[in-house]
Amino acid sequence: MRAKTWTPAIVVAGLLGTGFSGVEVAGQAPASRAERLRRETDNVALQNVAPFKVFDNLYYVGVGYVGSRLVTTNQGLILIDTLEGAYTEHPLESIRKLGFDPRNIKYVILTHYHLDHTAGAARIQELPGVRLAMGDADWDALTQAPNPKAERLPRRDIAVKDGDTITLGSTTITLHVLGGHTPATLGVDFTVYDAGKPYRAFMFGGAAPGPGREAAEQFLASVKRIEQMQDGVQVRIVTHPWMDPEFWDRVDRLATRKPGDPHPFVAPDVFRAWIAELDEAAAARLR
Ligand SMILES: [Zn+2]
Repeated sequence: MRAKTWTPAIVVAGLLGTGFSGVEVAGQAPASRAERLRRETDNVALQNVAPFKVFDNLYYVGVGYVGSRLVTTNQGLILIDTLEGAYTEHPLESIRKLGFDPRNIKYVILTHYHLDHTAGAARIQELPGVRLAMGDADWDALTQAPNPKAERLPRRDIAVKDGDTITLGSTTITLHVLGGHTPATLGVDFTVYDAGKPYRAFMFGGAAPGPGREAAEQFLASVKRIEQMQDGVQVRIVTHPWMDPEFWDRVDRLATRKPGDPHPFVAPDVFRAWIAELDEAAAARLR
């Protein structure tokens, strides 16, 4: 997601970041780690955060400003989003660090065509037997999009239609086409497990409308659709950590969690409040 200025998360981050210059300025509080991870996208040492387990079957293998997720199954691995530029090896290295083998990746789900999510897929497509899945119209958009850094792009593969599923072993992921951020942004709907207990997780692949009225209308319709199907959703998965102001706090809480403590990413109210905010903001854009 790029260059959107109106979502509540961005507004909050923008206020926190007032005066930010990448260095500590006398008289101003130093930027928080979360804020630096959001803004210093070229700071490779900062961005290369260690991978971590979030649920029994879900791991974070992204960098500080944009996510990549590994879903493990009894028949191989599924990767969601693939990073870009200096970070295209990062998910593969992270998968190895976690003790898995990237050659077991069977599917890559690309939430939408923007290069911060898709550019790394060209590298992963070299691995034998990997299938890439993205919304049908986003495959077309990918080939027409500006590519200022001349990233190598993945070749068109599975063109997802609304309601399609990806099944690997006993795991099934449902893909909803929820356009507006891009023509065929995906919602990724699946089950995560915490010590064996299942939770419904939902990743809305593009949580801000693209430019223009038509995109805003499409986005609002997608948000309304999520409202219709969100009843059982307990876990929000964000494409960018900065979309959740508490993301890195949750990660810290997860790391120091004691037996019996609640899982910091199980927060049904947070999901619903977020969708309500998106609804309000999208409606306001159309007024
Ligand atoms: Zn995007």
